[in-house]
Amino acid sequence: METQPEHVIEHVMKAYQELVAEIDQDVKRIREEYGRVPCPTDCFQCCLNTSTIPIGEVEARDLKIALDALPKQIREHIRQKAQRTIKILEAEGYTPENMVKDSGMEAIEVVKGKTFGECPMLIGGVCSVYEHRPVICRVWGYPIDNGKELACCKKTFIGQHKNYKPVKYADYWQRCKKLSEALGAVQKTPNCYLVIQLLSD
Ligand code: SF4
Ligand code: SF4
Repeated sequence: METQPEHVIEHVMKAYQELVAEIDQDVKRIREEYGRVPCPTDCFQCCLNTSTIPIGEVEARDLKIALDALPKQIREHIRQKAQRTIKILEAEGYTPENMVKDSGMEAIEVVKGKTFGECPMLIGGVCSVYEHRPVICRVWGYPIDNGKELACCKKTFIGQHKNYKPVKYADYWQRCKKLSEALGAVQKTPNCYLVIQLLSD
């Protein structure tokens, strides 16, 4: 992680918490209009191919709070999952630098549908860092404006996603990016590498 004076970090992380509260409120608005949680209770398919997604600095700092609070055995399990993924990806010539260039899209094809493709923080079908999960994990499953189009998980809001004012994901993501930049971090880190880094700090 980049080093900034403590008061700067505190200020930025407070702004991130405010942003997260705003995102959660926006999601809650659609959920209430829809009348229920849109995802089937036993579904976690969107966590299965996220081992290479790039994560920003402010999200990483928040994730670290959750990882630090986990029991040692779970932390070790997460570390091993991430290490296995990295080993496979590096054998194919991938590096964190070339992965972030296309948001991990090419690299994920190498591990897609296999256990190495899973988010390392998914344990037994449950997100082990739920309260501190990254921004995309907070909004996926709901109609989102990603800046290019109206996007939505194919398993939710089927035939109805246009009936709702979308979550302002593009706006939230830009604000999240600016907060990371305020911490001196311009580069995001692929999920599997970030997890190892956070568990080692
Ligand atoms: S952080 Fe949690 S919600 Fe996000 S991909 Fe990983 S397991 Fe899924
Ligand atoms: S967003 Fe889609 S894939 Fe993810 S849990 Fe909900 S229904 Fe399943």
